[in-house]
Amino acid sequence: MIEYRNLKVALLGAGNVGAQVASLLIEHSEELAERVGAGLELVGIAVRDLDAKRTADIPKELLTTDTESLILNADIVIELMGGLDPAREYILQALNSGADVITGNKALLATHGPELFEAAEQVGAQLYYEAAVAGAIPIIRPLHDSLAGDQVRRILGIVNGTTNFILDRMHTIGATLDEALATATELGFAEADPTADIEGYDAAQKAAILSSLAFHTVVPLESVYREGITKITLSQVEAAKRGGYVIKLLAICERLVDAEGIEGVSARVYPALVPEDHPLAAVHGGKNAVFVEADAAGDLMFYGAGAGGQETASAILGDLVTAARRHVMGGPGIAESRHAGLPILPMASIRTRYQITLAVNDRPGVLATIAELFREHGVSVETLVQSVASEPEGENPTASLVIGTHEASESSLAATVTSLAASPEVESVVSVLRVEGL
Ligand code: NAP
Repeated sequence: MIEYRNLKVALLGAGNVGAQVASLLIEHSEELAERVGAGLELVGIAVRDLDAKRTADIPKELLTTDTESLILNADIVIELMGGLDPAREYILQALNSGADVITGNKALLATHGPELFEAAEQVGAQLYYEAAVAGAIPIIRPLHDSLAGDQVRRILGIVNGTTNFILDRMHTIGATLDEALATATELGFAEADPTADIEGYDAAQKAAILSSLAFHTVVPLESVYREGITKITLSQVEAAKRGGYVIKLLAICERLVDAEGIEGVSARVYPALVPEDHPLAAVHGGKNAVFVEADAAGDLMFYGAGAGGQETASAILGDLVTAARRHVMGGPGIAESRHAGLPILPMASIRTRYQITLAVNDRPGVLATIAELFREHGVSVETLVQSVASEPEGENPTASLVIGTHEASESSLAATVTSLAASPEVESVVSVLRVEGL
């Protein structure tokens, strides 16, 4: 049997993901040693409560509450505690002691990523984070390595399983948002407090991480535009379905040139209409997918489990093998590339298509008035569908108009919607949704 040198691995956290990582690492230690060319010795697991019940069988003697000593004794530190502090201090401590670090902590990376990458670069260590976006799906390494010679134009991601589960249930079985959320909670797809998911905060963190990586630019979390799914109604979902669309919460990362000719980055999260023949429309239940449009490679889609202890552990162990191989080969870590330094463009400068649903007075001349309002703001109408009057016999019959636009700027669209809402011919602006993936 080959005698390998041992690399010391410290694990911080033994929760949903950490316990699975520990268990798989112990179970597959021999095979991993052969893949790496060095033994991977789990030297300890930091937790808060030594007696808490664990979701996998892990040796109790590895558990410790002395996190700092554990870190100082390790070649590779895996941070799976979550939260901003003390995870940030522990990662800095690990990097400064020369260890490589692996983390799945999207909140921390989206908030303090630049500081952590800078610390890694200073000491020639490396920070790996495949599990931080879309759980088990390999998307960080493809963007970091496989597509490093290409130019990514746009990423459309379904990166939050909870909201995809909810929207999918509304679309496929006609559940209301509240009913679908209740089912998601019951089945463990949603946390007791679902705010981070349904208000889009979780997806925004992932958009910040993906756009920073794809466009070699620091994209701060505060610059990511965010809308959640809480205002999406079953009637909007049903109307979308009739029109050949599916509503998905998308994290969109885009490199674009604005009206002044400035090339920049846009990172944004909102529920959007996706054509039902787009690959993202077929992402059901709690699954995730990331659709990448690159200049040379064309369209690529990465699909799979966006969460789950064992699934996410797969991504962590992949990073562990990569980190360990680097230790065996020697040499400094590869710094996170931020060379492009593109400006972050405001939401007003993005251009996309829109679908606007209006309740309007059902009388002659209304269509011309509405069309004129779009024309005044430079928004070109592509499709217009008028439904039957709601009260054909009543005093004030209303009709429903569904208007699809050509590509328009967010600012022109906002001005159009304001004029529509103020028009005496418009009873109400029922819904304004962006259309993506065309
Ligand atoms: P979790 O179940 O809440 O587990 C957290 C673990 O960290 C627990 O074992 C806890 O110890 C330990 N811990 C927390 N604070 C600590 C401290 N100050 N000192 C020492 N130990 C501490 O979390 P998780 O679901 O495994 O998620 C871990 C990370 O992976 C998070 O950043 C999360 O965003 C990310 N992630 C998770 C998933 C997923 O599907 N769950 C998917 C992708 C990424 P005790 O057990 O003793 O309380």
